[in-house]
Amino acid sequence: MTKKNIAIYPGTFDPVTNGHLDIIERASVLFDVVIVGVAFNINKSPLFTKEERRDLIKKVTKKYKNVRVEMFNGLLVDFAKKQKANVIIRGLRAISDFEYEFQMSLTNRKLAPGITTMFLMPNEKYTYLNSSLVRELSKLKGDISSFVPPVVEKTIKLKLNQKL
Ligand code: ADP
Repeated sequence: MTKKNIAIYPGTFDPVTNGHLDIIERASVLFDVVIVGVAFNINKSPLFTKEERRDLIKKVTKKYKNVRVEMFNGLLVDFAKKQKANVIIRGLRAISDFEYEFQMSLTNRKLAPGITTMFLMPNEKYTYLNSSLVRELSKLKGDISSFVPPVVEKTIKLKLNQKL
């Protein structure tokens, strides 16, 4: 039997954006299984609960049959080992992402030599997009419709008690 390539795509996803989805779609073509790992950390206070973040990703990735969504806490490499993953996917938007990602990937390699971190670049139209921009914009009632899928936009508005 040939070995399956299982990739973990970890993040906070508060909330999932079109940039994340771009990376998920690219990964789903490359790997047998893609597990989106929703990180939760008691020291962080996200806008969406971990369950809300997981459920939104599930909704917007339904069409990718090899994509699963799980929540995890603690060390990423421990979660990756538990899921029998051999790859960690991260998105690289700009040089500003590089230093932190470089450090993390080498640390993870030291902790788990059998797991390789791979970087995917999104479509250039998403290179400036991140979840905190989406949260800030929506709090100020800015238009986020080109940054997130419609179900995410609707859920943010409900969360912030804004008109749909
Ligand atoms: P974290 O809190 O770990 O940065 P995020 O949910 O913001 O988690 O991001 C998860 C991963 O997705 C990271 O690798 C990040 O670089 C990547 N990412 C976030 N936004 C984008 C985007 N617009 N395009 C490509 N990759 C992205």
